[in-house]
This record gives sequence, C-alpha cells and structure tokens, in this order.
Amino acid sequence: MHDPNLPADDYTWPTCAACGRELWNVELGRHACRPCEEKTAQRIAELPSLFQQLDTTAALMRGARRPDAGTSSSKTPPIPPRLDVLALVGPGGVATRLAAVEDAWRQALGWTVAPWRGSPAQAVPQLVEFLGNNLLWACSSYESVADDIEEIRRLHAECAALARDERRPGRVQIGNCPVRGDDGEPCWTPLTASGASHRVRCGGCGTRWETLGEWRELRAAQEQVLAQTEQGEGVAA
Ligand SMILES: [Zn+2]
Ligand SMILES: [Zn+2]
Repeated sequence: MHDPNLPADDYTWPTCAACGRELWNVELGRHACRPCEEKTAQRIAELPSLFQQLDTTAALMRGARRPDAGTSSSKTPPIPPRLDVLALVGPGGVATRLAAVEDAWRQALGWTVAPWRGSPAQAVPQLVEFLGNNLLWACSSYESVADDIEEIRRLHAECAALARDERRPGRVQIGNCPVRGDDGEPCWTPLTASGASHRVRCGGCGTRWETLGEWRELRAAQEQVLAQTEQGEGVAA
C-alpha cells in the first residue's frame, strides 16, 4: 500500500493557517495562502464604502429623531434606530475592530503604536490603508494572521449584510404621512425609508422628503398631528 513517492506518514505538508489548504511550492514559508490574501485584500478594500453607507444611514436615523428626546412626554415613537447599524459605525464597531488588528500587527512588527485616527469615519480609511499595505507581510510572517483574516471576513460580512438590508425598500418604518389633504385630515399612510436613497415618498399622496432638513420637518409634522390626536381631535387611521 505504501507509495514510496509520497512523503513519510509522519510528515505533514504545510497548510494555510486560514483555510487549511496545502500550500503550493511558491507559497512555502507563508502562514496564509495567496487566495486567502487576495480575498482579504478585496474585503479590506470594500470596507470604506460599506462603512460610509452604514454611517450615512446612522446619521439619518439620528438626525430624524426628536432633538428633545427624553424631555418630552409625547408618546411618539422615535424613528426606530437600527441598533445593529449604530453599533457598527459607533465606538466598538468597525473602526475599533480594525484598530485592534492594526495594533496587533504593529506590535508584531515592533513598530510604535498607531497615532490617533480620529472619529470612526475619519479612521476607517486610514486603518484600511495600513492593513492593505501590510497584508502581504501579515500573510507571510505574522503567526496569528488566520485570526485576523477571519475577523476581517466576519466584519465585512456583517457590514455587507446590513448594507443589503438597508437597500431593501420598506426596511425602516418611520411613522405615518402627516400631510393634510383638502379635507384637513392627515394622509396618515405608513411611511418607510431605506438606507440606499434616503428618499421617502408617500405611497398615498405622493409627497417626498429627501434631505436631512426635510426629514426633520417630516418628524415635526408627524409629532404635531400626534399631539393633536392626544388632545382628542382624532386622526383617520
Ligand atoms: Zn488560505
Ligand atoms: Zn401622504
């Protein structure tokens, strides 16, 4: 049964630490294989635009909420913030997780710690640049690279899934249309928003809200209608 051309039983050919595939001859000595490096490079390169998309969505969710939230006794629900989106763009999110990878790589390289990169939106492009520039080193020489390849894969997947969700129309319920018709009654058609266009159009009366300022006006108008409802004026559902 034993094939003399095969290596001895106790010899294991080096494999990629990330995907487990046996390394090619030209890859020997590396920790992670070239396909893993290429896939990771692509994910790193796509992160800034994914982050920007989620950050814009988060800004709209924040901007559309009542400025005096917490001080008012209004029963108006705020525009439901996508907590998962806010978590990725805020502290502890994408920027923090990429910075942890950068810190580990710098330590392994014997370099000084990274300078302060600013807000998450400012930091992400710089973190991505650092990781992209040093990915070849990491795949070649960094023992723990497999963990970071996995972390970047997971981070990219989380961002991409949320960005896809946001693109689905009607993903975010943002209350009812406050525009009053000729009879003085509010249209009150349920409104939805998506993160892709940041454009809201009422399916009932056709009114559109497109900018952050218009979102705030929409919010104020909705609250005005609801405040009147609470005073017993009634709103046709
Ligand atoms: Zn691999
Ligand atoms: Zn309407």
